[in-house]
Amino acid sequence: MSSFTETLRQQQLEIARLRSELSKHQAFLDAVKVHIWAFDGTQYTYTNRQWFEFTGQNPNELLSIERWISAVHPEDLEASTAIWLAHWESKTEHENFFRLRRHDGVYRDFYCHAIPVCNANGVFEYFQGFNLDITDRKKAEEEIKYLAFYDPLTGLANRRLLTDRMGQHLAHARRAAELVAVCMIDLDGFKQVNDQFGHKTGDLLLIEVARRLQASMRQSDTASRLGGDEFALLLGGFTKVSECEQLLQRIIANLAAPYAVNNAIAHVTASIGVTVFPNDGNTPDLLLRHADQAMYEAKHAGKNCFCLFNPSHLNQQHSNQAMLIKIGKALQSGQFVLFYQPQVDCRVGKVVGMEALIRWKHPILGLLAPSEFIPLLEHDDLIIGLGEWVLLEALRQQKRWREAGVNLNIGINIAARQLHQGSFVARLVQLLADFDAEVIHQLTLEIVETAALEDINVVADAIRQCRELGLHVAIDDFGTGFSSLAHLKHLQVDTLKIDQSFVLGMLCNPQDRAIAKGVIGLASSFDYKVIAEGVESLAHVQMLMDMGCDVMQGYVIAHPIAPADVLDWLNKFEPNPFWRIDHA
Ligand code: C2E
Ligand code: MG
Ligand code: MG
Repeated sequence: MSSFTETLRQQQLEIARLRSELSKHQAFLDAVKVHIWAFDGTQYTYTNRQWFEFTGQNPNELLSIERWISAVHPEDLEASTAIWLAHWESKTEHENFFRLRRHDGVYRDFYCHAIPVCNANGVFEYFQGFNLDITDRKKAEEEIKYLAFYDPLTGLANRRLLTDRMGQHLAHARRAAELVAVCMIDLDGFKQVNDQFGHKTGDLLLIEVARRLQASMRQSDTASRLGGDEFALLLGGFTKVSECEQLLQRIIANLAAPYAVNNAIAHVTASIGVTVFPNDGNTPDLLLRHADQAMYEAKHAGKNCFCLFNPSHLNQQHSNQAMLIKIGKALQSGQFVLFYQPQVDCRVGKVVGMEALIRWKHPILGLLAPSEFIPLLEHDDLIIGLGEWVLLEALRQQKRWREAGVNLNIGINIAARQLHQGSFVARLVQLLADFDAEVIHQLTLEIVETAALEDINVVADAIRQCRELGLHVAIDDFGTGFSSLAHLKHLQVDTLKIDQSFVLGMLCNPQDRAIAKGVIGLASSFDYKVIAEGVESLAHVQMLMDMGCDVMQGYVIAHPIAPADVLDWLNKFEPNPFWRIDHA
């Protein structure tokens, strides 16, 4: 026997041994969802049942290399054959990835792992391996990748992909000496759509917004949804800002067209802030911040428009930031103080309460009024901390006065942001825990009308809970916020405070007078108390009393008083003989 025939015979024996070895595990091999195989260089000398089921091939046929090639996806053939050939040469263990065609023509993804098998003398004989169907895993991975980079509702890029793409856009623009416009979009009126038509319609509208954005832009531009009704765009390929302005006008007009969604016609517009690379900044972070700032300016400019970033406004923002830091430190170091302005029932000639009004005892600038710092704080969570300090300080003062034999209601002002933090009532409960019921029952929360109307259901609920805690609630600056009767019925409060602008104007302006009269009438029909603020003269007092409002707060009675002087003021207080005191 020639050595060739001998080798062949030994090989066949080995294959037979391998087959019988494998067949011992046949049940297992058939059960696992992998193709198991042995390959000798020209044909597959073994394949398990999974392979036959997958390809639909006759189990009695051995699988030839040609047959395998015809099953591989044409796009994967070159790469996977190259890997195979390289390892056939070196006879080394390897991995491969390819798609194989199933008997129904559908391609599935496979991971292939192959190891060389040698005989007892260490001479290579064949490759043995398995193909694992990884289609589902790949799909799941792709889905995860999709979720990590795309907004699932609209299919637009998310913030992560946007920042990623920004890097590419900026690098390209740098090479091509072009401009990139980074735009931040916030929809105007989206909340109303959600409130009026429900979230499902809101979602459909957002999908349509995404579609319109993509339709307005070039393929190479990027549209992204950052969350809620906030979108961002990267627009490239400009050399002049004016070219980008035309495109923005078009986007604004497209987004402002009515939306027919879910059998409803909804309307939203867009406020867009735009910053231009490289003119306004060169990092994604900075550009996004600038665009965001410009977007707020578009909102202030009346919405449904775009604003280009203006660097001089940035200085303002920097100084605002510095101011916020100073206010935070002032709060920690006890530079705030509450002044108290008396509220007097003129008909009975008695002080019935005090409104606590905050002042900042600035070490250099002196006593600062709230108008110098509250508006800046309204957009920052610091107002919550400050509001909580006001509450505690007012309650402490209340306790001190009670110890001195003075029993007065104290009103404190609640900022909109404080009221709308999700945990407003829960925080109140914590803060009130250290105080006796009598102290708590003489506290009034003043909520400005405009803040009460924002999200009225939530506010109505919070007010109800506050009153259950024994607190009183007043609507401050009433008349400025367009409350309807229906709103008022919904908001169960104790007191309406007529806004001082109507009081101040009522002597010479019939409309102001009519509004003041209207508020007094409303309060009486709902059985609410009414307080007039900004009462500056005896003529005001008399006119208000004629209209049916007896409780007043204003300079004609007293300016806000420093805490140390309050008891003294109260001791000296005498009703004005010109008030129409009712002695009955
Ligand atoms: P407000 O709650 O409506 O307070 C009434 C404001 O009118 C006070 O101004 C008071 O000093 C002023 N005032 C009182 N009587 C008269 C008058 O006869 N004529 C005129 N022209 N004005 C009068 P102030 O203290 O400057 O406070 C302004 C606003 O700042 C307050 O309006 C309130 O909205 C807010 N504020 C004051 N303290 C706090 C606070 O502790 N927290 C919060 N969030 N806001 C506060
Ligand atoms: Mg007030
Ligand atoms: Mg007021």
